[in-house]
Amino acid sequence: MRSEPEDCVRCGACCFSESERHARVTGDDYARLGDDAARLVVFHGNQAFMRIERAGETGPIGRCAALVLDAEAGTFLCAIYERRPDVCRTLERGSPACAGERATKGDRPRRALTVLTPPRR
Ligand code: SF4
Ligand code: SF4
Repeated sequence: MRSEPEDCVRCGACCFSESERHARVTGDDYARLGDDAARLVVFHGNQAFMRIERAGETGPIGRCAALVLDAEAGTFLCAIYERRPDVCRTLERGSPACAGERATKGDRPRRALTVLTPPRR
């Protein structure tokens, strides 16, 4: 039996990664990002990828630099959704690839939100 995924805004698993080569950025993707490309994209050799953020808010839990976490709302939003790379557009919610992302990384988004949530006093 296949389990239905949560809404993407409450899941976020496919936007988490420890790999510096997580989401490939093509020339067209780069052009679409406009002024945001310089801060969101990194080059490894002649290949471009979305930057992985490990410092700052979520500490060691790697995630795409374009992902916006809201601990209060419990959501994960892509800040560049309309201009996201093709590789992100082709990952369909509910597809086998989506199921694989959730199976291997499904715990990371919640862990990241926990890091963001201040401890109760
Ligand atoms: S596509 Fe799948 S893994 Fe990605 S956020 Fe949506 S439900 Fe989660
Ligand atoms: S560009 Fe958007 S959809 Fe693609 S990995 Fe980054 S946050 Fe997720």
